[in-house]
Amino acid sequence: MNVLAKQPRRLESYVGGQWVVGAREGVPLLDASTGVPVAFIDSSGIDFKSVLAYGRDKGGPALRCLSFHERAAMLKAIGQALMERKEEFYALSAATGATRADSWVDIEGGIGTLLSYASKGRRELPNTRVLLDGDLEALSKDNTFSAQHILSPLHGVAVHINAFNFPCWGMLEKLAPTLLAGVPAIVKPASQTAYLTELMVRRIIETGLLPEGALQLVCGSVGDLLDHVEGQDAVTFTGSASTGQRLKTHKAIVQNSVRFTMEADSLNAAVLGLDAAPGTEEFDLFVKEVAREMTVKAGQKCTAIRRVIAPRSYSEALIGSLRDRLSKTTVGNPADEAVRMGPLASLDQREEVRARIRDLSADAKIVAGDPDNPTALSGDPQAGAFLNPVLLYCEKPGSASSIHDVEAFGPVSTIMPYDTAEEAVDLARRGKGSLVASVFTNDPGFVEEVVLGIAPFHGRVMIGNRVSAKSSTGHGSPLPGLVHGGPGRAGGGEELGGMRGVKHYMQRTAVQGAPTMLSAVTGRWTAGSDVRADGEHPFRKSLAELKVGDQLITASRTVTLDDIEHFANFTGDTFYAHMDEEAAKANPFFDGRVAHGYLIVSFAAGLFVDPAPGPVLANYGVDNLRFLTPVNPGDTLRVQLTCKEINPRANAEHGEVRWDCRVSNQNDAAVAQYDVLTMVAKTRN
Ligand code: NDP
Repeated sequence: MNVLAKQPRRLESYVGGQWVVGAREGVPLLDASTGVPVAFIDSSGIDFKSVLAYGRDKGGPALRCLSFHERAAMLKAIGQALMERKEEFYALSAATGATRADSWVDIEGGIGTLLSYASKGRRELPNTRVLLDGDLEALSKDNTFSAQHILSPLHGVAVHINAFNFPCWGMLEKLAPTLLAGVPAIVKPASQTAYLTELMVRRIIETGLLPEGALQLVCGSVGDLLDHVEGQDAVTFTGSASTGQRLKTHKAIVQNSVRFTMEADSLNAAVLGLDAAPGTEEFDLFVKEVAREMTVKAGQKCTAIRRVIAPRSYSEALIGSLRDRLSKTTVGNPADEAVRMGPLASLDQREEVRARIRDLSADAKIVAGDPDNPTALSGDPQAGAFLNPVLLYCEKPGSASSIHDVEAFGPVSTIMPYDTAEEAVDLARRGKGSLVASVFTNDPGFVEEVVLGIAPFHGRVMIGNRVSAKSSTGHGSPLPGLVHGGPGRAGGGEELGGMRGVKHYMQRTAVQGAPTMLSAVTGRWTAGSDVRADGEHPFRKSLAELKVGDQLITASRTVTLDDIEHFANFTGDTFYAHMDEEAAKANPFFDGRVAHGYLIVSFAAGLFVDPAPGPVLANYGVDNLRFLTPVNPGDTLRVQLTCKEINPRANAEHGEVRWDCRVSNQNDAAVAQYDVLTMVAKTRN
């Protein structure tokens, strides 16, 4: 299908395994620059109860059959396939009003997020279908009753209701963690830019990589879909606070305790430090960042800087610098390469932003830009939704309200002066909870006071200074590995944050029982679980032969004073506790000279290692190393090494094996406890 045809198309929804067109012709969606129809949207006639059931019954089980690594590999292949088609997305994205640079954030930023989840999923999650959360909780002295928290995928569907400003990224940043968790999704893009989301979903489905039912798309209203959500479903929403609040209190969502994540209006602040006077690098960086945040995506970004908090004595210089910079922003049709800022998403959206500027004008005066008389380098300034950047200044921000309450979702920011760091913190907090704030300063004292003062009101805080200037990802960029969301007005939700985002689609359960029963659930050996000692050294076994619980009890070795002195002189670690009897005795923890912890670990390796070449390929570290009892000359060490977890890698000839290593003395007291991490071949050569 040629979705880039010049004739406007009727968008289709992908539901129940097929592309369907709405029963009616639909509402026209207009090119943001020209006002010419791009597509028609309508979803009438879709049976939304069946759409939910299809996801739950078909997509869910198919995804849950796959391990985290298999799902991660699927995301990677989809990301690569989308990247190959990226020019097609760029071509259509221009109709949304996005410049090439704006589209890069949306298209390649979105695909990059998908690929990042693919790679993090493979590196940070085990190749299993259940996640362990935290350590084993011992509930009995004799190790017969313990507990382990686990996370398993919800058996429902994730309904993602997205905003118009990022038709690709907005979908992919939610889809990646959802699919990685093993949960199917129904995507509902905002109507205004749904044609771009529809194109991307079409290309995803065409890859044939996703199990049927894992991804459905609704172009147009979701009708009565929310009436049918259940306790295993999750709903995420990005958009206006008013719609978000209405959906959050929807009867079925409240009655069935459906997980609801909301990201709504956010009056993000940027604070200029008291030290960052005009002429400093931080001042220049601040000006650049504020202007950039005002103009990228024509300010239609949930993370854009709306409130510019600056020392009063620098305000005049700041207004001058920003006015200069903003006046150089060429506004127009993004099809023209000279254009740096495109139009807003629609004429309605421009009217909405103009109305909000009027609200802000109750407390602030316009110091740059004219909202009512746009100038455009190319395109008709009336037919296209063009709006030049508008900068306001509020003399008394402490007693004003609209500047802290009204989000003008466009290229609009307000400068608010402050005199003390405490006042800056107070002004930032007046946003009542935001997605992000940035602080530009080179003064660690200022940063400590301000960041700790505003952190509880923000999901992310970025500190800008001369050192990070070149490598900084900037105020406005949510990153796959970092939390995106904010408290209070920002909706109270949390997305991304690396593997944290995956867990939002999983249920945490505390499982209690005898260790062997817990191991059966978790796939991880714990103290007290059954062991197997079949006489063969576990290092001789390939992954195909090795079993969780395979155990080796080693021979013993007595530690001598000579050993300690040899180790001290050999390594150079002549710390008094190993070398000076009197000083060691005076230490409250020791009763005379003790062996080095690393000597114990080294002797342990000498006891448990099987030296001949074999399936064990490498030791890549230890986890959770603790020295529990001092070892004095004359003590005898023995090791109990147990296969704790086996994690075969997809598409590789080897996997990771975690060994529980307990080093004990002649009284069977544990002197050291840790996990040994090794790479082991899948088969014997
Ligand atoms: P809306 O809240 O109207 O829409 C957001 C999403 O919700 C869209 O997908 C919309 O679909 C959908 N929606 C609307 N009503 C319902 C409903 N009853 N049931 C289910 N879904 C529904 O916001 P807009 O996109 O119109 O943007 C308006 C304002 O929201 C902006 O001016 C800005 O202030 C704010 N906004 C904030 C964002 C943020 O991240 N902080 C992002 C985007 C907007 P449809 O488009 O089909 O109506």
